[in-house]
Amino acid sequence: MCGIVGYIGFREASDVIIKGLKRLEYRGYDSAGIAILNGEVIIKKGKGKVVNLEKMVLNGPAKGTVGIGHTRWATHGEPNDVNAHPHSDGKHDFAIVHNGIIENYDSLKKELISKGHTFDGQTDTEVLAHLIEEIQKVAEVDFETAVQLALKQVDGTYGLAIVNKHEKDKIIVARKGSPLLLGIGDNEVFIASDASPIIEYTNKVVYLDDDEMAVITREGYQVKTISNIELNKQVHELEMNIEQIEKGGFPHFMLKEIHEQSDTIADCMRGRLMVEENRVVLGGIERVLDRLVNARRLVIAACGTSWHAGLVGEYLLEYIAKLPVEVEYASEFRYRQPLIDSNDILLVISQSGETADTLAAVREARERGALVIGICNVVGSTIARETDAGIYTHAGPEIGVASTKAFTAQVTVLSMMAILLGQRRKVLGEADAKEMIHALHGIPAQVASIMEKQDQIDTISRLFAYAPNFLYLGRSYNFPVALEGALKLKEISYIHAEGYPAAEMKHGPIALIDEHMPVVVLAVTDHTNDKMISNIEEVRARKGRVIAITTENNHDVRNLAEFCITIPETHDVLTPLLTVIPLQILSYQIAVYRKCHVDQPRNLAKSVTVE
Ligand code: GLU
Repeated sequence: MCGIVGYIGFREASDVIIKGLKRLEYRGYDSAGIAILNGEVIIKKGKGKVVNLEKMVLNGPAKGTVGIGHTRWATHGEPNDVNAHPHSDGKHDFAIVHNGIIENYDSLKKELISKGHTFDGQTDTEVLAHLIEEIQKVAEVDFETAVQLALKQVDGTYGLAIVNKHEKDKIIVARKGSPLLLGIGDNEVFIASDASPIIEYTNKVVYLDDDEMAVITREGYQVKTISNIELNKQVHELEMNIEQIEKGGFPHFMLKEIHEQSDTIADCMRGRLMVEENRVVLGGIERVLDRLVNARRLVIAACGTSWHAGLVGEYLLEYIAKLPVEVEYASEFRYRQPLIDSNDILLVISQSGETADTLAAVREARERGALVIGICNVVGSTIARETDAGIYTHAGPEIGVASTKAFTAQVTVLSMMAILLGQRRKVLGEADAKEMIHALHGIPAQVASIMEKQDQIDTISRLFAYAPNFLYLGRSYNFPVALEGALKLKEISYIHAEGYPAAEMKHGPIALIDEHMPVVVLAVTDHTNDKMISNIEEVRARKGRVIAITTENNHDVRNLAEFCITIPETHDVLTPLLTVIPLQILSYQIAVYRKCHVDQPRNLAKSVTVE
């Protein structure tokens, strides 16, 4: 959450920073600000999006070649002009931008107030600025040492960048729990929360780890621990390219990402799904494959859409690989004191690889001796680095806050994993494996064919764009898809929606059904088909408006439903990869009709790096 950009070099810093903040805006967009060094620390900041900041800077340029910037996702204090970052110390000597939460800010603030400090706003970050100021004054140490001493006193998480008017050619950055990386150019260094702002300038990056800081000048950087031990960090090469992080002619990133799915699913399978050889190769988990094959159970932990992918994974791994699976919300897993030990395997799923709750689950499980495997999209992310083994989804940067292509890539990985484990555990016969592998291989083309249904889905979207509630029903593999469809609608159109296992409808939600209630029913031709047909009848009997997602040959469902969107036939277990596509399109179109901000829905942010 939140985006940090910093620059030191020869370019106009505000240009680089504002452009970078726009690329990071999907991480948070309550307010934005910059601080530029120019003899003084010039701060410009305010409520709202980066375009407001841009106007501010155009009206009163902040000239200089050293600076830092921030887009905020408020945790402490209302999103207003005062609470926007950067924050300053009492003397306005320095400015700080911060991502994360200073958990003990309240006690620190009281102590600082008793020593005469006054505060302009309510953020935890402002407290950190004053703490640094106080320490420097009392301990009479240089600025860098004051920062180190202050960071030792704070509990919580931070990714931060600081500029100081007395150190005009320097930026100090530090990280604990919130991602931060350095982009290394010639006589210039970039700082960012993720790689998207720097990709057009350099592909050389250094990832900071927890409890590390860096002192950055034009000529280079020195990474050290916050206890001042110098480190030699590896320089990584980024594989991302600029086209991947631009809209490419689409009105929204979300629509672009929905359309990309036939390619991203294919990319995810490339070199892994060996159709001719009837097998799956997952290099990232090869080393731990024996442990997985012999596991007594697998625990999956994730949040949000990734949790839904985990639920699909549960069905897949239990059905195909006969491996017992438990799926947990990462946040609950952590605080429940989980019964997990060195015999266990935890599989975590996170698009960004930075999700704070999921990362905490990784650490908790590793502390208890469990083997931890990750499924992440962002290469080099913290979870990717902290897990024992892992599989990248290779979906490319996902910018739309509502996750789409990351979900289908995660389910693709889980499908391949289930086939691989099914074969190795000798519970999946050659013929069945062949059928699944062939079906999986055909998914990208089938996804592309569903894109052609947009006009048909549009008719339904227009009709129900102002419905106050939606119900989504599914069974078996498609129950998690019902949850995901409801989540997509809630996230971007702000319509209240609930996903249910279809059989549970009679235990409560059926009371909500009347002639105003759209009910999206995932009714593909599988072993649950008859039961789904009964559920459709039950909805119809109460005048509910049935929107069915069904397979092309399913005439029963097509005859019963008021509206129907068909998907091509595939293997039953793989239908989630197809049924989810019309639901993504439906929620996107409804959000557009409702004039919602599709890529940056209110109160949400991509990459949830606070717990
Ligand atoms: N806790 C800080 C605030 O509320 C930083 C939030 C963020 O990560 O954007 O201002």
